[in-house]
Parts: sequence; C-alpha cells; structure tokens
Amino acid sequence: MKVNNVELVISAVRPDQYPEDGLPEFALAGRSNVGKSSFINKMIGRKSMARISSKPGKTQTLNFYKIEEKLFYVDVPGYGYAKVSKSEREAWGKMIERYITDREPLRAVIQIVDLRHPPSRDDIAMYDFMKHYDIPCIIIATKADKIPKGKWDKHKKIVRTTLDMDKTDPLIIFSSETGLGKDEAWKEIESRMQ
Ligand code: GDP
Repeated sequence: MKVNNVELVISAVRPDQYPEDGLPEFALAGRSNVGKSSFINKMIGRKSMARISSKPGKTQTLNFYKIEEKLFYVDVPGYGYAKVSKSEREAWGKMIERYITDREPLRAVIQIVDLRHPPSRDDIAMYDFMKHYDIPCIIIATKADKIPKGKWDKHKKIVRTTLDMDKTDPLIIFSSETGLGKDEAWKEIESRMQ
C-alpha cells in the first residue's frame, strides 16, 4: 500500500477513548528497542512518526494511527521494561490484555522479534498469550540486515522453534534499513483487512 496520510487519532488510556469508526486494526507488539517504531515508519514510508509515551516511566497508552482512512496501526507499549513499577506494569498489562482479547476491529497482532537472537521469554509469553486466546498473528523478524543472508534461514528456524509457532502463522524476515519484507508484510495485512 502506498501511504500518504497518517494521523495519530488518539493516545488512549481508557477503552472508551478507542476510535469508533470500525476500521480494521493491527496491533504492534514487541519488547522495547526491538525495532517496532522503525518497522511502522518503514511500512508507512516516514522517517520518523510521532512517538508518544513509549519510554519507561511515562504514562502508557495505546496509540491509534489511522492509515489512509483504511486501517489503524495500534502501537502497544513495548513489553519487558525493567524500570516500570509492578503496579504500573499490571495496570497497562490489563489494558493491553483487554484490548487484544475484546476488541472487535482487531484483525491481527503483528509481533516484532529480533532475527539475530532467539526470542526472549517475554516474546514467548506474548506469542503464547495470543495462541491461548486464538488471536491471529503475524511474526516479523527484523534487523535482518545485521546478519549475512546465508544465515537467515537458520535464524528463521530458531525463531519458529523457540516460539513453537503454528505452521500456518506467517514469519516475515524484515529490515527497516533496506525495506526487505515490506511488500510481504503489507500483503499479509491487506489480506486480512476485510
Ligand atoms: P522500538 O523501541 O521497538 O520502537 O525500537 P526502534 O525502532 O526505536 O529501534 C531501536 C534501535 O534499533 C534503533 O537504533 C534503530 O535504528 C535500530 N533498528 C531498528 N530496526 C532496525 C533494522 O531493521 N536494522 C538495523 N540495522 N537497525 C534497526
């Protein structure tokens, strides 16, 4: 998809603030620093999109980005922060959980992992959570430019086996540097927009 219009519609702290226009939504999940913002920016062809409260210690929000009046990217706070207090983590954990399990327009969760390393315990927990609730998911293994092409398959296999992925779930090798995987990722998203 060629993207010209992107609008941050709301940084929601409560479900009653979520948009009500019924456009399909795709949530983005990943541990902090994995390359989530870079992924979104590459997908929409921006150098840097507004980044709101995605740093530890700030209020955690669900950021709804409307793309071309056709869909929303919903940026979910990165998991695995050490600095967030237990009560804070629990509060936004509940909000994310509720959003992911209850949200009618949600079409899939796009989970970003780092192709270079085996998925972390948090990555595995996130994937297990989605499987438990039967949430469709698309796994993006990013930072592919940081390892030689000849090793991609081996690393891909490690991601699949460590997450114990369903065979039918897509795993897309991506690079925000080179744009590798961008078309494939858009194809997956567009096929789920109806
Ligand atoms: P976020 O915290 O998950 O939103 O992570 P960012 O998108 O801010 O990325 C974290 C760091 O990884 C930044 O320094 C990015 O430039 C770098 N990065 C993200 N994606 C890629 C990629 O595909 N290739 C390379 N080489 N670096 C990346």
